[in-house]
Amino acid sequence: MLMSFLNFLLFHFPFYSFVFKNVDYKSFNGVFLIISIMIIMLVVNAFIFYLICFLSRFVGKFLLVLFFIISAIAVYFINTYGVLIDKTMIGNILNTNYAESSSFFSIKLIIYIILFGVLPGIYIIKVKIINETWKRFAITSSATLLFILALVFANASNWLWIDKNSKILGALPMPWSYVANTYLFYSGKFKSNEKEILLPNATIKDNQKSVVVLVIGESARSENFSLYGYKKNTNPLLSKMDNLFHFDATSCATYTTAGVKCILEYTNTDKLYEILPNYLYRNNVEVIWRTTNWGEPPVHIKDYQNKDALMQNCKGEACDFDEVLLTGLKDQILASKKNKILIVLHTSTSHGPTYSKKYPPQFETFKPVCNSVELGDCSQTELINAYDNTIVYTDYILSKLIEDLKQLNEYKSAMIFVSDHGESLGEKNLYMHGVPISIAPKEQYEIPFIVWVSAGSKQVKPNKVLSQNHVFHSVLNFLNIQSPIYDEEMNIFK
Ligand SMILES: [Zn+2]
Repeated sequence: MLMSFLNFLLFHFPFYSFVFKNVDYKSFNGVFLIISIMIIMLVVNAFIFYLICFLSRFVGKFLLVLFFIISAIAVYFINTYGVLIDKTMIGNILNTNYAESSSFFSIKLIIYIILFGVLPGIYIIKVKIINETWKRFAITSSATLLFILALVFANASNWLWIDKNSKILGALPMPWSYVANTYLFYSGKFKSNEKEILLPNATIKDNQKSVVVLVIGESARSENFSLYGYKKNTNPLLSKMDNLFHFDATSCATYTTAGVKCILEYTNTDKLYEILPNYLYRNNVEVIWRTTNWGEPPVHIKDYQNKDALMQNCKGEACDFDEVLLTGLKDQILASKKNKILIVLHTSTSHGPTYSKKYPPQFETFKPVCNSVELGDCSQTELINAYDNTIVYTDYILSKLIEDLKQLNEYKSAMIFVSDHGESLGEKNLYMHGVPISIAPKEQYEIPFIVWVSAGSKQVKPNKVLSQNHVFHSVLNFLNIQSPIYDEEMNIFK
């Protein structure tokens, strides 16, 4: 507890000056949030220090000394250069050579290290740590954990604020900013080098020109689509569309990276099998990936277009929003020399917490909307209005895309819209997403699965509840591509 308190005093000036700048400390909610963060920080650190020292007094002392010295250096850099100790910064540090880093040495840095690192370090080495019994340890630990959990849930209405500021909040508390971000840096490096397991080769079975556009939704939950029975009319355009079908579906996770992986894989697995775009590209299908989002498994194709690339050919206000994904798409399809085309559009429209910033003003159908990330300032109605407007905008984008596809007379075409996961909008006092799937509320995994097919191309089966893995097999079926891993049970088309 003493070490945690010292850690709090010496190294958290930058953290709390950020918090005070960004929280309304005159409101009750603001004061509650600030006090909660302080208590949680003290208790969590005390608990972790206690845990390491209980397991091994030697390792505990060693780590504490190390933490104090590194934290002193980190806080020096934050105070002097205004840097954030995030994943990118850790990458910079680990890739820096001696000549570069020695240029940072200064008297002030030495003073920081001695005052905040070495002096507490001497105390830590000399102090006698009392041995505790397992029983006492068990009681203290469980009581502490319960207390932390209770405080976290009492602050559920502040999660949005924390999520919105997580990048900065995660870069300032010592010693976790550099510990966690070093881990993230290496795990990211490992993941991007991870080799996918190749699938058996596929064969294109005919010369019919056909195109599938797979639209990956972001945080779209089926409950708020009027197609799925929502009372407000959030699908004014799609509801009038012919050959449009919607199915009940669930996501296999509640966060983006896992949800997107599941949409692209042939089966739900922890391993990394060749994903749909890579597989089709390797087997001579034209594949185009357009994104305003992130978090997909590594895509190995020629035409990968992110927002910056798309913006270059886009004109007008709409380019700042997800409509940019449709820029010149029809022409790009027509320009292809291949008969089979897969296009993936990875959208970001319903991503919180600032839902009202994700659509152009003319799509503000439901008012008033929540414009703040501090939930204390918004009513539930305002929050849901803003979210519903993102669905109205999604409705527009999908309709516009379908209108484009209708003009491709030579092609048999299909549009599949599947969301990566759902979203909580205050039900059970939860917001956003990311609750582990086994205990997640249905709002976070009940997703829309909307399919449109061009006249005379295909019919759909009377599908029951679908999974994200149905996408893979359905796309193979629509493009008439034969593969040993194809599973007719997982195909939505007749
Ligand atoms: Zn997502």
